[in-house]
Amino acid sequence: MEIIKKATDLRIRLQKVREGKATIGFVPTMGALHEGHVSLLRKSNQVCDLSVCSIFINPTQFNNADDLKKYPVTIEQDIYTLEKNRCDILFLPGVNDIYPGGTELQERFDLGYLETILEGEFRPGHFQGVCQVVKRLLGIVDPTYLFLGQKDYQQCMVLKKLLQLLHSDIRTVICPTQRETNGLAMSSRNQRLTEQQKNEATALYKTLLWIKENIRKGSLARIKEEAGKNLLLHNCKPDYVEIALADNLEMINEWNGSNKLVALVAAEVYGVRLIDNMLLDD
Ligand code: AMP
Repeated sequence: MEIIKKATDLRIRLQKVREGKATIGFVPTMGALHEGHVSLLRKSNQVCDLSVCSIFINPTQFNNADDLKKYPVTIEQDIYTLEKNRCDILFLPGVNDIYPGGTELQERFDLGYLETILEGEFRPGHFQGVCQVVKRLLGIVDPTYLFLGQKDYQQCMVLKKLLQLLHSDIRTVICPTQRETNGLAMSSRNQRLTEQQKNEATALYKTLLWIKENIRKGSLARIKEEAGKNLLLHNCKPDYVEIALADNLEMINEWNGSNKLVALVAAEVYGVRLIDNMLLDD
């Protein structure tokens, strides 16, 4: 695996790849890699001639300074994981490579409704930060395919919207959420929890599963309320438990029994904020 730290070096390297007509798969990450990230890389290796992963903890998407400070860093282990899973190029930029003009917000993206709900509501500015970094990374890598995890359902929608705004023809591939055997969605932030706390955090997954099994046509008020109570019983303090149309994340309180739905949850578990979601018609 080649490790490239400078944006200009990566541009030159990938220009040669494109001239040879090879397809480029891109997996952007913030490191502290786990099986969820690896599943994206595997998919990229299946679909593309060459896979590029990036590791960059993007300061502009953290609305909470403490969260940024505590974000796990395991770079040696990450390099080993990527090598073992046949990553061709690791892009490991510094903040100055991505933000040569500084990290002050330089551009606003019109994300509309998507930015006002769920993570957008609870993490103001988060998606603007995500778009800042992804636009810059895509400008450097210019991949054929962008690999994203369904774990961050709203982020997938935001990034599809970003690609539209950029009139980009980069294709997105959304990969299913990878879970621990107990159902907990894999997340770099899980590293901040003890085994016991991680067990309690399975309440997010179990609550989503419970919604999926118990949802009925008609009012959804009761099921959302019960789900919220259940999370609290397991030391998970919910920011939200919502049910929305899977296609556009329009939040609904009444279900006609046929629209495709997704349930989404965010909760703080022993000081660590976790998110998860589940399609309700799988
Ligand atoms: P992150 O490093 O958390 O920014 O995530 C980088 C990419 O990995 C994003 O596209 C995430 O949605 C994806 N990802 C994170 N966790 C998982 C998971 N458990 N399963 C599948 N994809 C994931």
